[in-house]
This record gives sequence, structure tokens and C-alpha cells, in this order.
Amino acid sequence: MAPDPRADELAINLAAVQERIAAACASAGRDRGEVSLIVVTKFFPAQDVLRLHALGVRDIGESRDQEAAAKVADLAPDVRADLRVHFIGQLQSNKAPHVSAYADVVHSVDRAKIVAALDRGAVAHERAPQVLVQVDLSGDDAGRGGASPDQVAGLADRIAASHALRLRGVMAVAPLDGDAGAAFARLREVAADVRAHHPDATWISAGMSGDLESAVAAGATHLRVGSAILGSRPPRR
Ligand SMILES: *Cc1c(COP(=O)(O)O)cnc(C)c1O
Repeated sequence: MAPDPRADELAINLAAVQERIAAACASAGRDRGEVSLIVVTKFFPAQDVLRLHALGVRDIGESRDQEAAAKVADLAPDVRADLRVHFIGQLQSNKAPHVSAYADVVHSVDRAKIVAALDRGAVAHERAPQVLVQVDLSGDDAGRGGASPDQVAGLADRIAASHALRLRGVMAVAPLDGDAGAAFARLREVAADVRAHHPDATWISAGMSGDLESAVAAGATHLRVGSAILGSRPPRR
């Protein structure tokens, strides 16, 4: 086979992240099997998705509808069938029905309008995406998305009552200049409240390249890791 330095780079980075996760689980006294790694491939080409798939990755994360749809459409059907596609970006209600066409999991549901739009799309495309309620842990409505903690129960009930969406839990991004540990501890409480009413909502999606250890310590079940594996992205906005 022709040398593929990018595949080697991804393999090395992936192994390093897997080691971090294993170490974090060990120090939190958790079983490694309780934590799933989603590799966030936004801004990187479908070719990298193929390389990651060859390295055993089965969960990928994307945050922009157009980019994600094109990338997923580029994959051979056997590879596509072998991957779970997680949509983790902010949703607009006009785009949400389209996201239901290809996303297996949607992490970023944060208002009633989005629940309705995703559900409409899921019914139209005959799909049943798993969804998480995104929780805003910043307390300042800084526009990174997410429902305030007091709105989460109502949204969870709406999702559970939808036609096609399957409620699986909660998601959050740690505040930019806050204490990730404290934020994830709060998320864990919100998750427990949701689970008390919806026993299948067991997922806690939290933790990125910079804070996955704090997330594992606070009970995260799904980590969303991009730059530590793929390298740095072009700056946002
Ligand atoms: C981009 C992104 C990630 C991955 O972030 P890294 O710091 O690159 O690991 C995780 N979650 C969300 C919501 C993102 O938008």
C-alpha cells in the first residue's frame, strides 16, 4: 500500500486520546466500556472519515448541515452503514428537518421549535433519530446554544411525546472561561432529573479535546473529540 502519512498521524492521535480516556476512567473508577468516543470530523474531508473508520472509529460528529450531508453522501454504503453520525452543531428550525435525513443522533436540541422540526423531518424521511437535550451551563445566554436547566424537563417531555424522536439524554459544552468540572457536575444533576422521568435517557454527552478528563470524572457517557485527533481547525467566524 502507498504510504499515507495522514493515516499514521490520525492513528497516533487516536491512540493518545484512547489512552487519555482509559486513564480518566481508571482514576474515576469507571469501566472504559461506559464511555463512547465520538470523533468530531467537522472541517475535515470525507477521506479522513474513511481513515478513521479503517482505524476502528464508528462514531463521527459533525456540526454544519450542508457540510455533514455532503460528507455522509460521499461515503460508500457499507462504510455509511457501519458508522453512527452525530449532529452536534447549533440547529435552525428551517435546517432541522434536513438533519433528520442523515443524522443517527442529534445532540443539540434546545427549544420546542427544533423538536417539532426534527420530528417532522424524521417522519418524512422515515427515520427515528436518537436525540439529546443541549443544556446551557454558562448561565449568561452567551449564544453557544442550549436550553437553560429549568427548561430541560419540558423539552425532554416533548421529545418523549414526539412521533419519531427517541430521547436519550443530555449534552453540554463547558463554558469558555469557567470551571469545566463544576459545569459538568451541574450537567450530571440535570441528567439525573431527566432520567428520573425517562429511564432510557441515560446518555451524558460532555467533554471535548481540552476537558475530557473532567467530563469522565463527572459521569459523561459520550465524549466529542475533534482537534486532539484531527488537528487544529481554521479559527471560527
Ligand atoms: C467542535 C466541537 C467539539 C470538538 O471540539 P474539540 O475541542 O476540537 O475537541 C465538541 N463539541 C461540539 C459541540 C463542537 O462543536
